Amino acid sequence: MKQKSPFDMFFDEYNEDIPEDHFPRGSISAHAAEAIVTSETWSDAKPAMNLSSFVTTFTEPEAFDVAKKHYLKNYIDHDMYPQLFAMEARMVRWLHQLWNGPKGVEPYGAATIGSSEACMLAGLAHKWNWRKKREKAGRDASKPNLVTGANVQIVWEKFMRYFDVEPRIAALKPGHYRFNSEHLDELVDENTIAVVAIAGQTFTGEDDAFRAIHNWLDRYQQKTGHDIPMHIDGASGGFVNPFLYPNYHWDFRLPRVKSINASGHKFGLVPPGLGWVIFRERSVFDEDLMFYVNYLGGEMPTATLNFSRNASPVAYQYYNFIRLGFEGYRDIMQHTLANAQLLRHRLVKSGYFEIMNKTQRIPVVSMTLNSKYTNFNEYDISDKVRERGWVLSAYSMPPNAQSVNCLRIVVRPHLNLNAIEGLADDIIHACEWLEQHGGNATPPKLHDPHKVAASKC
Ligand SMILES: *Cc1c(COP(=O)(O)O)cnc(C)c1O
Repeated sequence: MKQKSPFDMFFDEYNEDIPEDHFPRGSISAHAAEAIVTSETWSDAKPAMNLSSFVTTFTEPEAFDVAKKHYLKNYIDHDMYPQLFAMEARMVRWLHQLWNGPKGVEPYGAATIGSSEACMLAGLAHKWNWRKKREKAGRDASKPNLVTGANVQIVWEKFMRYFDVEPRIAALKPGHYRFNSEHLDELVDENTIAVVAIAGQTFTGEDDAFRAIHNWLDRYQQKTGHDIPMHIDGASGGFVNPFLYPNYHWDFRLPRVKSINASGHKFGLVPPGLGWVIFRERSVFDEDLMFYVNYLGGEMPTATLNFSRNASPVAYQYYNFIRLGFEGYRDIMQHTLANAQLLRHRLVKSGYFEIMNKTQRIPVVSMTLNSKYTNFNEYDISDKVRERGWVLSAYSMPPNAQSVNCLRIVVRPHLNLNAIEGLADDIIHACEWLEQHGGNATPPKLHDPHKVAASKC
C-alpha cells in the first residue's frame, strides 16, 4: 500500500466530521486542530469592527508580550507570584486616588474578572452593612431592596435575583434616559441597601444624575434618619471621567459614594478578563466577607467570587497604567471622544438620524432614525452595514421608553479618523439604499425587552 503523504494526512484530519453530541474519540495533529478551530470562526465578526461592544479589541505588541509571559500563571497563587499580587494592591491604591477617595484611610478593593464580579462584590458589601445595621437596631432584616434606573446593566438584575434583593427600578420615558431623583420617593425606604447610579450607561453613554440623587438622599436622611449609600457603576465611565472631566464630581468626592466599579477591559484598555471594585475605605467591606489564606507564613485576605484566574489581564493593566499614565489615558480619551463627535456630526448632518444622548461623556454615539423615514428601521440599518463587516447594535429602549429604537455605536480608541469616515459613509449609504428599496427587519420578539436590551454591552 502506498504511504500517505503529509498533505493527505493533514487533509484527512482537517476534513474530519466534528461530532455534535459526543466527545471527540481520536486525536488529530496540532496543525489540523488549529486549522479547524480557525475555519469554524471565519464567519464570526472581526473584533475591531464590532462596534456594539465596549470591550477592548486592540493591543500593542509589547503589551501582548506581557500577556503571553503571564499566560500560564494562575493569579490566585499569591505565594508563588507575590509580585503580581503587589501590582494589584498598588493599582487598587492608584484607582482609589484617581477616583478621589478620602486621604488617610485604608483603601480596599480588588481586581475581578470584569465589572460583573465587581458589582456583585459591592452589592454584597452593601447588603451585609444594611443587615448588620438592621439587626443591631433590632429591626426586620429580611427584605432588602436595591434602587436603580431601568437603564441599568443586566448585572444588577442578576445580583438582585441571585442574592435575594428586591429590585426597585425607576422607569425611563421617551427622550429621558438618565436615572434621576424623580421616582425616588416611591422606591427608597428603610430596606434600601444602596442606590446604584451609572457613569457611562450602556444605552446612550450618559451619566445618571448623581448630584440630584445624592441631594435627595441627604434630604431623605434628614427626614427619616436612614443613611443610604450610593454605588457608582463606572464600568465605562470609570476610565473616562477622571481623564476628561477632572472637575466633575462623579466619584468618592460625593460623600455618599461608598463603592465604585469599572471594567479594566473597557476603557481601561485591557483585553477581556479584568474589572475593578474599589471601596471608599476598608470598613465598607465587612470583615465577614473576607477569607484569610496562608501566604508565605502570613495571612492574606481574599474576597472575590472566583478563585483561579489568568494572571495576564492584571499584568496587562499594570503595563497600561505605567505606559500611558494619566496623560496617555487623557490623550487617548480626548481623541476617541473627538472621533465620536465627528461621527455624530456626520450622521446628524445626513438628515437620517436624531441623537439620543443630550450629554456626551463616554465616546458613544446613540441614535434613533428620524421619524420621517417609515419604510425602514434601525434594525435594517444594522443588517445592511453588516454586509460591510460592521457590527452595530440596534435595540428597543428599556421601560417606559420601549417605543424608541436605538442604534448605538461604541467608538473605541483603535478607530482612527479614516475608519470613522468610512463607517459614516457606509451607514449613510445603507440608509440611502434602504430609503429606496425599503427594509423588512422586524424587531426581535423579546421575552422581556429590558432584560435583553440591558445585556447589550
Ligand atoms: C459592561 C457593563 C457592566 C458589566 O461589566 P463586565 O465587565 O462586562 O462584566 C456593568 N455595568 C455597566 C454600566 C456596563 O457598561
